[in-house]
Amino acid sequence: MAARILSGTETGKQIREELRQEIQELKRAGVTPGLAAVLVGDNPASQIYVRNKIRACEELELYSERITPPASIRTEELLEQIGQLNRRPEIDAILVQLPLPSPVDAPRVLMAVDPAKDVDGFHPVNVGALVANRPALRPCTPAGIMELLRRHEIEIKGRRAVVIGRSDIVGKPLALLLLHAHATVTICHSHTQDLPGVARSADILVAAMGRAAFVTPEFIRPGATVIDVGINRIEDPGVAEKLFARHPQRLEAFRRKGSALVGDVHPDVVEVAGALTPVPGGVGPLTIAMLMVNTVEAARRRRGQSVPSRSGQMAAAR
Ligand code: NAD
Repeated sequence: MAARILSGTETGKQIREELRQEIQELKRAGVTPGLAAVLVGDNPASQIYVRNKIRACEELELYSERITPPASIRTEELLEQIGQLNRRPEIDAILVQLPLPSPVDAPRVLMAVDPAKDVDGFHPVNVGALVANRPALRPCTPAGIMELLRRHEIEIKGRRAVVIGRSDIVGKPLALLLLHAHATVTICHSHTQDLPGVARSADILVAAMGRAAFVTPEFIRPGATVIDVGINRIEDPGVAEKLFARHPQRLEAFRRKGSALVGDVHPDVVEVAGALTPVPGGVGPLTIAMLMVNTVEAARRRRGQSVPSRSGQMAAAR
């Protein structure tokens, strides 16, 4: 039987609708949460990501602005610009779009963002709060995945979760959130031995490695929940023919467009998994929805208001 599809598009829409109400209430009380997106240089993918984030702010009537220094900017100058954003009261949230051009000292720049405005949750203060399971801004993609699991009533407590990928942005923080939600968590990476065997122990398997269709049906315990974080573009018709051999509609779409987005999970996994996030339309839309949630949360916290509890903020682990 084919897996139940966990639509991030739908869940993202739900989250944004709920947030719309919250934002209107804040506005009536004279508060318009504001996000500043810092986009250094002209990386085309980053431009698209930032455009989508700004558009999401506009749709929800949040204040937003784009700061677009040239790729040649020196670290010191960028630090000065971040400092200005930190000091501006109408800016509640600052995101620095990654990757930064290589001469820029990215860790120093991320450290310079005021932790109270660090809407991506990358500052060491927020990372520390995550490790200690204390309330703080959580990285958007992992927080979105937790929200997706919660809203689809997928049990986490007592389950075995395997996270493939240990990046600071996805794998590591997600593993911690799953741990705080009382899963038994294994983190895998490029040096893990017998990856398919470890993956098959998972009730919840997360693929966040950036390797197109790497996770094949042999990685999956039948009935497992599979979360596909990867976003990979394929353009080789030979690769598409193989991947979509059992998915004629996707092959047809590939032929029309000349490319397709695939996750880290092989399309055939849909036949083995119990539940699966699609790519596109899975984790991606949740990331932006959670960025909006975090922007509102930052605005509330900075004004000493309470923040509704969400799945990223679990009760103390025992
Ligand atoms: P990354 O490159 O920083 O980290 C990849 C991780 O995967 C590393 O920890 C590495 O050890 C592991 N890995 C790589 N090859 C492996 C292998 N063969 N076996 C086992 N582990 C392996 O990537 P990232 O920033 O975490 O992103 C991962 C993927 O998720 C990318 O495709 C990225 O585009 C996507 N992504 C999607 C969203 C979203 O909103 N949907 C957000 C962030 C990242």
